[in-house]
Amino acid sequence: MSEILDPFKISQKQLSDACKLANYDSEIYTALSEPERFVEIKLTMKMDDGSLKTFKGFRSQYNSARGPMKGGIRWHPEESASLVKALSAWMTWKTACVDIPLGGAKGGIICNPKEMSNREIETLARSYIRQLADIIGPTIDVPAPDVYTNPQIMAWMMDEYEKIVRHHAPSVITGKPLPLGGSAGRSIATAKGGVFTVREAAKDIGLDLNGATAVVQGYGNAGSWAAKLLKDDYNCKIIAVSDSRGGIYDRDGIDPHVAAEFKEKTRTVVGLKGTKEISNEELLELECDILVPAALENVITRKNANNINTKIIAELANGPTTPDADQTLFEKGVLIIPDFLCNAGGVTVSYFEMVQGYYRYFWTEKEVFEALDRVMTRAYRSTIEQSQKFDTHNRMGAYMISLERVLTAMRLRGWI
Ligand code: NAD
Repeated sequence: MSEILDPFKISQKQLSDACKLANYDSEIYTALSEPERFVEIKLTMKMDDGSLKTFKGFRSQYNSARGPMKGGIRWHPEESASLVKALSAWMTWKTACVDIPLGGAKGGIICNPKEMSNREIETLARSYIRQLADIIGPTIDVPAPDVYTNPQIMAWMMDEYEKIVRHHAPSVITGKPLPLGGSAGRSIATAKGGVFTVREAAKDIGLDLNGATAVVQGYGNAGSWAAKLLKDDYNCKIIAVSDSRGGIYDRDGIDPHVAAEFKEKTRTVVGLKGTKEISNEELLELECDILVPAALENVITRKNANNINTKIIAELANGPTTPDADQTLFEKGVLIIPDFLCNAGGVTVSYFEMVQGYYRYFWTEKEVFEALDRVMTRAYRSTIEQSQKFDTHNRMGAYMISLERVLTAMRLRGWI
């Protein structure tokens, strides 16, 4: 049988496996297996060269039982309805796993912002919000940045929403720049949260992080910060990193700050002095202590799972490992920190940003990270407890917690 690679089908397969493991009947699976609402929108705009271009956008609002829905907006040429639905499902399990009072959503536009001017990006951002203004809002659905979107785009989106509702509403969106009500620490929160879970995982397997080797796939926001934090906070040795153009390797260690500066200048890590060029495929199979997939989905599959040579996989990316690969890695004894646990630091600090926005009172970065550490450590410990209780891998352990919490909220509301 060929391997399932469609992201939404993967999320449904995981849900179905989790429902079976927890002994929920098929009606529960059906109640949870599709978004509450999914919208597809058309965005037509004039480009700088005078041509007219039409983009397709999406918003998937998966589940609102535990609170306003929350999820980022991706701008990517390979964005799809299936991916947005899957990511909205994972957001639902993520907010439940770390126990913040939010539901799950996700959005996206099929486009390539790398080929667009700032004016074009701003026009597209504002037009996305105009199309969705009726179904988002601080108490309904709160977007945030994700792949190829950033604080400036969030600022334009917030401004457009406020023009429509004619009052300030900073909590309509998170990941905003600091002067507009952003939270201290938000830009590195995903990596910071992930690294807290790596610290806990290392304790569990008796791995000394001082000098431990780490490989990071994807040198964007999540990946580059993870590399810097692993090095700066725990003295790990970063032996390989990559981006969409390829990877670089140095057994003696790559300085993650130098790699980030090099990428800033040249738009890629490839070509950094003193490193050997390798492919993204080779990078994933390098022998190391910690492997951090921080790019896109479906990079660890049936094809390469057996060749993965690491002790811990910290999934900062969403959906990097397929269900078949999960099983293989579990049997091999690799400790996976599953995506919706490992990368929950971003949404957790987004939640802190909403809270600070409501109070108009802002915390220091130290306060943000202390609160984040408590949330991530508690979620990691509960996940491990559930995996052991159900004798399953950590992804299913995390599902056990999230499903129970979402279903409890649905039951109390009288939905099921
Ligand atoms: P980003 O746009 O900042 O960076 C993505 C990086 O991945 C870029 O360096 C890009 O060159 C690289 N990349 C793209 N295609 C690749 C490929 N085929 N092979 C290797 N590298 C490739 O995005 P990000 O915000 O860092 O997000 C990365 C992942 O982390 C995504 O799966 C995202 O959903 C997830 N995530 C991010 C956040 C966040 O707060 N940023 C939160 C939760 C999850």
